[in-house]
Amino acid sequence: MNFHGKNFVADQLSTGGGRTFRVTSPLTSAPLDGVFCEAGDADVEAAAAAAEAACTIFRETTSEQRAAFLEKIADEILALGDALIERAHLESGLPHDRLTGERGRTVGQLKLFAQTAREGSWTDARIDTALPDRKPLPKPDLRRMMIPLGPVVVFGASNFPLAFSVAGGDTASALATGNPVIVKAHGAHPGTSELTATAVRKAVAACGLPAGVFSMLHGSGKVIGVALARHPHTRAIGFTGSRAGGRALFDVAAARPDPIPVFAEMSSLNPVFVLPGALRERGAQIAEGLKNSVTVGAGQFCTKPGLVFGIAGVGLEKLRGTLAASFPEIAPSTMLHAGIGESYRRGAAHATQVPGVELVAKTKHAADASRTQGEPVLLATTARNFLAHPELAEEVFGPFSLLISGDSLAELETVARSLEGQLTATIHGTPDDLAQAAALVKLLERKAGRLVFNGFPTGVEVCPSMQHGGPYPATTDARFTSVGTAALARFVRPVCYQNFPQEMLPAELRDENPRAIWRLVNGELTRAAI
Ligand code: NAP
Repeated sequence: MNFHGKNFVADQLSTGGGRTFRVTSPLTSAPLDGVFCEAGDADVEAAAAAAEAACTIFRETTSEQRAAFLEKIADEILALGDALIERAHLESGLPHDRLTGERGRTVGQLKLFAQTAREGSWTDARIDTALPDRKPLPKPDLRRMMIPLGPVVVFGASNFPLAFSVAGGDTASALATGNPVIVKAHGAHPGTSELTATAVRKAVAACGLPAGVFSMLHGSGKVIGVALARHPHTRAIGFTGSRAGGRALFDVAAARPDPIPVFAEMSSLNPVFVLPGALRERGAQIAEGLKNSVTVGAGQFCTKPGLVFGIAGVGLEKLRGTLAASFPEIAPSTMLHAGIGESYRRGAAHATQVPGVELVAKTKHAADASRTQGEPVLLATTARNFLAHPELAEEVFGPFSLLISGDSLAELETVARSLEGQLTATIHGTPDDLAQAAALVKLLERKAGRLVFNGFPTGVEVCPSMQHGGPYPATTDARFTSVGTAALARFVRPVCYQNFPQEMLPAELRDENPRAIWRLVNGELTRAAI
């Protein structure tokens, strides 16, 4: 496969600052085709200037134009055919069928966001017409709606090289709402990024949009990423990755003379609470579901259950026994890149060595280091020991989980109270269990963005009601989601127009409602004209 390896700076291809890099496949440790150029300061400047220049035109495009643009990106991604899947497979080690599914999700997401842009409710248009005769003072005409923030810098995730990378959820959210995007490509999949960026660039040209609507730069996060985060034209940041990376960018953004929002989705342990009645009624089924949820995709999902809680007793012992019997059979699988593989090995080994932690089971198959394989590992400890060792509450990204037994529901509540913010929390219970666990449910509501009942947290639907976010450190802003159509809300801000002449108002706020969107007019939700 031929790669030019250059940076996409608006409509230019740049060889950058002079440094180049190659990637090796985690599947074989062999180098892959392509020499990629790290961007330089001049590229950051040029991409930011082009994005800023494009802003004026792009934000004035209609929802229909932006929807057509997103749909064109989706078509261009599909037109890349098997080459995209093959390269993503070689770069990430993820299997072809998983990547084919992920491409479907990426394309589906773009189309759903197109539909959301078209439908127009994201503008949250509100109109309160004037009451000139109101006493003691007249009421002005007030009209409020969301407008784009401006250039958004996106840091793609390593674990979703398609759905959360160059043309993934963050990019789609920003573009749908009229913000130019500059992607800092993830260093683990530069070839996949180049192919996707080519598709986006084609869509930009085909839709007659200014080239600065999209740029993509290769290079180190600490250098190029930080320079983009600090650039005065950057108005917001979308990020998925490690807690350290997300926090570093959050701190950079907060230290700017003009702080900007950072929507970072970082680390989560996704606790699962298995209550006694559920264990009695369907312990074996829960064990099977847990095993799958912990090990699917080599455990490299942000929603992987990393902590499993239960009350000590026969039911929990049985669950542990079933898991102990199934874990050895699971073959190790290739992890996303050598860094993640190494950090998984270290994290799992570290947790195993914490006093009071027992190894319940691990795979019986030896992991092949040349294939970057991670070994599925299950550990166990008591709630008291978990509380005494806060390091056990750190994310171990990979096929790893920790089974924790408490003495009572009250002790599980104490542990739940100690947890940091989470993307998800899960409860398995019968109606009787739940009646007793109402306080635990209320506690978890304060800790997590999504509560799962009698299910498993992996598998995140892309739809209007999804919440994929949660209190820190799950994200840097628990008020928002990075999955689902509500993700668009991250990259807009409200503006209110007071007593504005009709012809100066955005179409969404004009009396005749030319875009036929839902609006809150004098307190009533309607699509009618005024
Ligand atoms: P990462 O190391 O956080 O990298 C993500 C992106 O952020 C990369 O483009 C990276 O650039 C950049 N970056 C990292 N540190 C930065 C910093 N200090 N300043 C500016 N930019 C920075 O994530 P990863 O490589 O995808 O995975 C590493 C770890 O992240 C995993 O072991 C796992 O613990 C966690 N992770 C969590 C999730 C989740 O959804 N919760 C998803 C993926 C990964 P460089 O590569 O140049 O540093």
